[in-house]
Amino acid sequence: MRGWHHGRVADPSEFSFAVGTRLDGGRHGRTGVISTPHGEIATPAFIPVGTKASVKAVLPETMKELGAQALLANAYHLYLQPGSDIVDEAGGLGKFMNWAGPTFTDSGGFQVMSLGVGFKKVLAMEAVGVRSDQVIAPGKERLATVDDDGVTFRSHLDGSKHRFTPEVSMGIQHQLGADIMFAFDELTTLMNTRGYQEKSLQRTHEWAQRCIDEHERLTATRTHRPYQALFAVIQGAQYEDLRRKACRELESIRGSGGTEFDGYGIGGALEKHNLGTIVGWCCDELPEAKPRHMLGISEPEDMFVAIENGADTFDCVNPSRVARNAAIYVDEGRFNINTSRFRRDFTPIDENCDCYTCANYTRAYLHHLFKAKEMLSATLCTIHNERFTVRLVDRIRASIEGGYFDEFKKEFLGQWQGRIKAPGE
Ligand SMILES: [Zn+2]
Repeated sequence: MRGWHHGRVADPSEFSFAVGTRLDGGRHGRTGVISTPHGEIATPAFIPVGTKASVKAVLPETMKELGAQALLANAYHLYLQPGSDIVDEAGGLGKFMNWAGPTFTDSGGFQVMSLGVGFKKVLAMEAVGVRSDQVIAPGKERLATVDDDGVTFRSHLDGSKHRFTPEVSMGIQHQLGADIMFAFDELTTLMNTRGYQEKSLQRTHEWAQRCIDEHERLTATRTHRPYQALFAVIQGAQYEDLRRKACRELESIRGSGGTEFDGYGIGGALEKHNLGTIVGWCCDELPEAKPRHMLGISEPEDMFVAIENGADTFDCVNPSRVARNAAIYVDEGRFNINTSRFRRDFTPIDENCDCYTCANYTRAYLHHLFKAKEMLSATLCTIHNERFTVRLVDRIRASIEGGYFDEFKKEFLGQWQGRIKAPGE
């Protein structure tokens, strides 16, 4: 029913953020509510990833049942296949994949660059959950080159040549139609020199301006669609002055019509041990009234640290990716259901879990499904791991609201760091 939207103008007030309870002691952590045209997200929130408009092995209805408040898809993958124009014709990402709730898309920059020039960064980021098979082998041809205007890369599917610029990424993300989009930024690696980090930050700043301008133009043109929010991405690697400068500069950017960024993504090269420090620097500088997304984390200890220091949402492929390799999260740690000690274990994965898998299936059955290479193994384990991660963040949110965050963190991480060690792990 296109006519229903006839004549309307996409309205930025369709997107908003309200801060709820703050952590004490001058810390940036808080609860809140992000309102989007497709519904609300209570924060902090974990956003599961459906890279190609599908959370692998699990129905969108199941994702809703297990408590996912929003899903994140990837612009690079959907641009290559099926094409962002097809998703647009379908009525946008949510309609295309039968997900009625809020959606996010990333800019495609990470995939474009990690396939080529950014590969060293992926190595450096392994600690925060990036998959090592995205790393290209030494001596292999680089698949991407960056210049001041954009990135030229080859498709991982068929080797065909493509070019992303800030304008192209905005065009793709407007066609995909997610509620929250990210500006196109340049990735750096921890191995890059300080000089290169400075140069890259300048480039990311220029690209952010171009993203805002194009976003403003597309928002005015595509009046048949609800408002899409745009988040800037903060780079600056491990340098405090660069991170702070990036935040201040991105905050000051405006389109010619006055459009500003609706929120911020904290991205780029960082190591696990300085995750909290870096999030803290950024949240010192960023406006309190806007939401902050942390890209690519889902390990419990990382989520506690990121939330405490001010991150509101995060996404990660890990809970579902590791589930397909038989790795299971419980409060005591991560273990592998493949190991033989579970052959005759007729208890659920986790007695205290409220997911569909734990309500209906045993460890012995899941062990059997993996051994027999049954597809249901991926489905059942993904349901559990996604529920575990979503629920852990729900528990953290409740602990902030209830004023017992520090106690909960201590208790949970004490248990978690005990880590179940399966034989052979
Ligand atoms: Zn479960």
